[in-house]
Amino acid sequence: MERNEAELAPRDSMDFDVVIVGAGPAGLAAAIRLMQLAQEAEQELSVVVLEKGSEVGAHILSGAVIDPSGLDSLIPDWRSKGAPLTTQVKKDRFLYLGAAGELALPNFLMPPLMNNHGNYIGSLGDLTRWLGEQAAELGVEVYPGFAASEILYSEDGSAVVGVATGDMGVGRDGVPKESFTRGMELRGKYTLFAEGARGSLTKQLTADFKLDEGCQPQKYGIGLKEVWEIKPENHQPGLVQHSFGWPLDNKTGGGSFLYHYGENLVSVGFVVHLNYENPYLSPYDEFQRFKTHPAIAPIFEGGKRIAYGARAITEGGWQSLPQLVFAGGALLGCAAGMVNVPRIKGSHNAILSGKAAAEAAFAAIQDGRSHDILAAYEEEVRTGAIARDLKPVRNVKPLWSRFGTFAGIMLGGIDMWANTILKGVGFGYTLKHGKPDYAAIRRAASARKIEYPKPDGVLTFDKLTNVSFSGTNHEEDQPVHLRLADPNIPISVNLPEFAEPAQRYCPAGVYEVIDDGAGDPRFQINAQNCVHCKTCDIKDPSQNINWVCPEGGGGPNYPSM
Ligand SMILES: Cc1cc2nc3c(=O)[nH]c(=O)nc-3n(C[C@H](O)[C@H](O)[C@H](O)COP(=O)(O)OP(=O)(O)OC[C@H]3O[C@@H](n4cnc5c(N)ncnc54)[C@H](O)[C@@H]3O)c2cc1C
Ligand code: SF4
Repeated sequence: MERNEAELAPRDSMDFDVVIVGAGPAGLAAAIRLMQLAQEAEQELSVVVLEKGSEVGAHILSGAVIDPSGLDSLIPDWRSKGAPLTTQVKKDRFLYLGAAGELALPNFLMPPLMNNHGNYIGSLGDLTRWLGEQAAELGVEVYPGFAASEILYSEDGSAVVGVATGDMGVGRDGVPKESFTRGMELRGKYTLFAEGARGSLTKQLTADFKLDEGCQPQKYGIGLKEVWEIKPENHQPGLVQHSFGWPLDNKTGGGSFLYHYGENLVSVGFVVHLNYENPYLSPYDEFQRFKTHPAIAPIFEGGKRIAYGARAITEGGWQSLPQLVFAGGALLGCAAGMVNVPRIKGSHNAILSGKAAAEAAFAAIQDGRSHDILAAYEEEVRTGAIARDLKPVRNVKPLWSRFGTFAGIMLGGIDMWANTILKGVGFGYTLKHGKPDYAAIRRAASARKIEYPKPDGVLTFDKLTNVSFSGTNHEEDQPVHLRLADPNIPISVNLPEFAEPAQRYCPAGVYEVIDDGAGDPRFQINAQNCVHCKTCDIKDPSQNINWVCPEGGGGPNYPSM
């Protein structure tokens, strides 16, 4: 028997000035800025941050080469305060890979905005842990292990008034267990949603307030990453290397990143744009294959992989930015999609957006306002530093999608040069993205099957072994958090039409089609493996999968991703 909401005890409720969902760079920047402003004004302010990971940083996965402009404006003395960003970029390398060789593109061809000098290489997970400490020191209440699972609306439904955390201790069958604990309501004058790419509450807000009306569909990539400890003689601290081309074909967008930092550490990753067409493509296996390229494999000889994970990255950029504000709240950072795609950077904009939202919310609270629209935040994002970063690169992704990797990158380069010379105006046009990513997939009958090489266990690994390096853990006896609108679709539609691509796009082996040969295939969801990348919610061709938050604290436990 499922639990009946009406029969449950009412939830406890707590009031705050500002409630923030997500302790990533955007959410924590907002919290820090709010407290800085309150201290300057000698005013009491209550701010709470909810984070679904077991600790701050546990669910953060990024490259990361970090443009310090966000941090500089939030905490100008971050260097002397011990922020964990110590490796400065020394060398930029951009490669075009063929199956057996590589071509280094001369740096002078790159528009200046692509230059990484002045940036830092590090772990965004570690940086958010540090930001979490700064926030706590300023008096922010940071609650890791608590997922915001429900939006609270005003009685007439016109404004957001807070969020509720999920009930804990509910069994897989929906029945409360002995450990059952009721969720909690956190009510705020303003609620800031900083859930990162494809946030589950953000998705609902976008639909409820029609935030994406009038903008292009959001675009995404899936980013897979490993951290390696390599031999000192192979380590080149400060080297930033990107590649495009092999193993992807010219029609499939994506590429690799490889950053040398810290004590013999290398962050190696691969992004596949989720508008790929071939349902047989496996982003995970493309990543593994990439590492075997003769220009790449030697770096890892004698080294060991110490961490693995995956996360969706937003790629829609300027033309996909939804309306950011609604009565009672706002979308911050990658919940709205603020990645500069050719630079593969979004953390600086996440911090800047958090800061801007905090300034708008603080001014509103000082004016005695609540639950209304923070228009000043939207204005700042659309006219300030974030706009100056995103606008000049707005055509790169559509050009790449339309003309394929090789021509698309060349045309994107020309477009970025035009925008550099003609100050963000460029040739004057803004290209559209067209259809959402899930609609790009082709019927299996017309697609080429792809045979991937078997992993060798030294340089390349099978999915499940790698998932064990993500520290992923969920309470097994809880409702499945990957909700199928129609449980029949994976076998009745997705399997015959698209060879059920979930088996391949999921980087954690969550989805399996079990076929015992008796002609009765079964769809199995191994929810406990989920690394919260959100790819299934984006790419399922039938849009039948809805990712909702599992119990707080579940999911990956990334050490320093
Ligand atoms: C593979 C990859 C490589 C990248 N490389 C770079 C790079 O080199 N440089 C760079 O600047 N950027 C890079 N980015 C982009 C960058 O990581 C993002 O722009 C940035 O993380 C966005 O910050 P955010 O705070 O908006 O979201 P996130 O960093 O995603 O943080 C969101 C947080 O909210 C939490 N959360 C989500 N929903 C809930 C909920 N309902 N309740 C409670 N908590 C919740 C999440 O667990 C997470 O901790 C990369 C991204 C990827 C995927
Ligand atoms: S189930 Fe979905 S969100 Fe979880 S790891 Fe797989 S694709 Fe990512």
